[in-house]
Amino acid sequence: MTGDDPRAAAAEVSRESLLDILDRTVADHLDWLQSWHAHVLIAPGADRAQLDPHRLCLFGAWYLRNRHAELVDQPMVARLAALHDEMHERAQALAVRIGAGAAPARDDYDGFAETFNTFITLARRLEKAFAAASSELDTLTGVHNRQAMTRELDREFDRFRRTGRPFCVVLADLDHFKAINDSHGHAAGDIVLRTTAARLLASLRRYDGVFRYGGEEFLLFLSDIGADAAAGIIERLRESLAADTVDLDGERRVTITASFGLAETVSGDRAVTDTIKRADGALYRAKEGGRNQLVIAD
Ligand code: GH3
Ligand code: MG
Ligand code: MG
Repeated sequence: MTGDDPRAAAAEVSRESLLDILDRTVADHLDWLQSWHAHVLIAPGADRAQLDPHRLCLFGAWYLRNRHAELVDQPMVARLAALHDEMHERAQALAVRIGAGAAPARDDYDGFAETFNTFITLARRLEKAFAAASSELDTLTGVHNRQAMTRELDREFDRFRRTGRPFCVVLADLDHFKAINDSHGHAAGDIVLRTTAARLLASLRRYDGVFRYGGEEFLLFLSDIGADAAAGIIERLRESLAADTVDLDGERRVTITASFGLAETVSGDRAVTDTIKRADGALYRAKEGGRNQLVIAD
């Protein structure tokens, strides 16, 4: 969290910390509502801090600090922040009025209560959405896990059945990965997995997908494409993986290669698991053939 660029500092917001903030925001504001009511009903005008609770609020300060971070910079979170401001402004206006000895207008109170409810409802909905999204991500590499893979590939396979437009499934398995763990340690192996996942993601098109299939095995989904065109993409990817060494700790670098098995969906496939099975057979042949190569399933 150093440097002057707020975007650089903000880029560190993780899904976990966002979930944590949303959770605390709901709890804090339910507590705050109770003390606010006690304050305006029982001791109006006694405590200036209650009139300006904005500055004391964790969520408000957190949002100002992190609003440019990737996860935070989206319309629904901005809407939550706007509701938060509006809710506290309405609360303050009511408190000032009551503190001055005037009865609050019914509409003003209803407006405040409604804004509060909308704010809490949206915070809970966002929390649920982020929790669901993170349960489909692999915690080590950040790419989607098998659960997400099954859901997405089943849907794509249905589309293939309806439209007849094929897609390709590629299984990629790192070569001699066990040797990396053995000679550099498990933590180094983890760095290799993370770096490889990032390189796979960067090399594919926007509508393609990368999934962690197993330990050092990834499944790539290439949408709306036949085997020949897909092979061109994967061949370039295979070469660039082999050419770009992985930095382990600023001193040690290792060369990583991978073997690939590619299968295009065909009318004989009854489910996407059949396509994956053929990709797996092709991967087996790539390993048998000497590794660091791509084999296309018949
Ligand atoms: P091959 O070229 O035949 O694929 O050889 P390999 O060594 O890559 O394959 P093998 O299946 O023998 O070993 C895979 C290794 O991957 C063994 C396992 O300990 C390691 N592994 C699996 N998951 C992880 C992980 O999350 N982190 C690390 N560091 N290692 C992992
Ligand atoms: Mg393997
Ligand atoms: Mg391997």
